Amino acid sequence: MDQANILIIGGGVVGCAIARNVSERWQDVFLVEQFPKLGMATSTRNSGVNHSGIYYPKNSLKARHCVEGNRLTYEFCAKHKVPFRHTGKLVVAADAHEEAELLSLKKRGEDNGVEGLRLIDAAEIRKQEPHIRGTAALVVPSAGIVSAEELVHAYARIATNQGASIVTRAEVVSLAPSGKNIRVGLRIGDEEDSQEETIEAKCVINAAGLYADEVAALLGNRSWHIYPVRGEYCEIRGPRASLINNLVYPLPHSHGLSLGVHFTKTLWGTVLVGPTARYVEGKDNYEKGRLAIADFAHSAKTLLPEIAESDLQLSYSGLRPKLVPPDHKGIVDLVITRDPAVPQAIHLVGMESPGLTAAPSGKNIRVGLRIGDEEDSQEETIEAKCVINAAGLYADEVAALLGNRSWHIYPVRGEYCEIRGPRASLINNLVYPLPHSHGLSLGVHFTKTLWGTVLVGPTARYVEGKDNYEKGRLAIADFAHSAKTLLPEIAESDLQLSYSGLRPKLVPPDHKGIVDFVITRDPAVPQAIHLVGMESPGLTAVPSVAQHVTHLVAEVLG
Ligand SMILES: Cc1cc2nc3c(=O)[nH]c(=O)nc-3n(C[C@H](O)[C@H](O)[C@H](O)COP(=O)(O)OP(=O)(O)OC[C@H]3O[C@@H](n4cnc5c(N)ncnc54)[C@H](O)[C@@H]3O)c2cc1C
Repeated sequence: MDQANILIIGGGVVGCAIARNVSERWQDVFLVEQFPKLGMATSTRNSGVNHSGIYYPKNSLKARHCVEGNRLTYEFCAKHKVPFRHTGKLVVAADAHEEAELLSLKKRGEDNGVEGLRLIDAAEIRKQEPHIRGTAALVVPSAGIVSAEELVHAYARIATNQGASIVTRAEVVSLAPSGKNIRVGLRIGDEEDSQEETIEAKCVINAAGLYADEVAALLGNRSWHIYPVRGEYCEIRGPRASLINNLVYPLPHSHGLSLGVHFTKTLWGTVLVGPTARYVEGKDNYEKGRLAIADFAHSAKTLLPEIAESDLQLSYSGLRPKLVPPDHKGIVDLVITRDPAVPQAIHLVGMESPGLTAAPSGKNIRVGLRIGDEEDSQEETIEAKCVINAAGLYADEVAALLGNRSWHIYPVRGEYCEIRGPRASLINNLVYPLPHSHGLSLGVHFTKTLWGTVLVGPTARYVEGKDNYEKGRLAIADFAHSAKTLLPEIAESDLQLSYSGLRPKLVPPDHKGIVDFVITRDPAVPQAIHLVGMESPGLTAVPSVAQHVTHLVAEVLG
């Protein structure tokens, strides 16, 4: 049986980009693709647009990987001679009603870190695209087009040069955890003449596009259902292709289904009109019941009134792997996650647009900083190969900046009183009661401090607010009352209120039990390491925690 460090399922742009990245660092990388050639599914049935990242909700994986992937795709294409054109694009408001939406699109783009966005009027639109009719447009300088097919092959070529093995006509038919590994059953060859093989892999990456839900189900994970949504194209060839110079988009569908039927000047000089968006039955249903040319001409006329049915001919179609069911609305994010039950498996699910753009993203993390006082601050950016989130009470919020909402930190206040002066001789060292049976704290105890006083506390109470150290503090009488159990001589007059601290609890108020420290690499952004719920015994544990984190950093930096 063959052994692999990493086995990637799916030879689309996502699988090939991953193969290129991981084979840089690890040996024994396999990529298996069920079809005879790479990129035959969604990866070459698209618009080939290197998207900017303006459309997607802030902090979503789509936004983050698209903005980062846009830059990396240009760099990659330039370096490896993949044909591309950095054209910029226009998103056009057809009438005054749409202009407000254009503004919110600009704002969303800026929130996502897309640079250079600006609004232009009808006259400026005419200068750039003389045949387009609109009242205003958003100029998106970072958008452009790439040859999707050559991009897939360039990623695959580099992966192979780095030692990865790419096998086509190899369909994954079974996945079974086997000790620390996963046993991958393959059907290799044509349908009439195939053979079964098995590879045992330390890590399996599910980049199976439209079939990612079915591949996950082979491991017993039925979390996802992919609905194919067909995008159909027409094409303008010959001299009439001069009606469009670059990329022209309408405003996106308000319900998130698609970016709307747009015009894409291809690298070979034709104009693609599309894609449309329609839920279909069947993950290979590219052609059944295709729309008529008249339908394309009708919707294209809104922005390009000169277009005639005779300018258009039917072209190819592609299938979006949607996670949103037909009767729902909204943009659902890409899923990039380790399998909860079989963590050696990583699933990439719902890799619809901007999947082509986002595929190479994720080498570094761009960290936006606000430096200085609130009144006098400046923004700076640092790009890091590895980010360590040791943000204590705020570690959940820092993780959420990367789109990871796995944790919620509840501040639990611990308050202290202090015995000063001669009465501090009541205690010599450290005296504890038994801990709270429900795990909330170690109980109010006595701590002889290094400066000779005695701390009595800490108490434990869930509070609102991560800077709420003082509101509604307990009375001295409460401390005296609970301290008397072990130290009957103590009197209220021996005590004075001291400081308080906030524990970053992961256990909600109505739950019980001790929850462990979380020290983990982010499943979606593995260059990020999160330390969450670092409550007691955090002070004691740190030297060992630091060693643990250093190992994780070594994993990231190689
Ligand atoms: C109409 C349309 C227009 C688009 N336009 C753009 C655009 O302009 N810009 C952009 O950024 N994105 C665009 N996209 C999105 C982009 O094309 C996809 O996000 C991207 O191609 C997804 O790549 P993938 O590798 O995940 O999927 P795929 O290309 O589908 O690759 C998955 C591969 O896995 C293989 N596979 C599945 N199951 C198995 C198995 N059991 N064993 C072995 N192999 C298996 C499949 O055969 C397939 O080759 C568009 C998509 C569509 C449909």
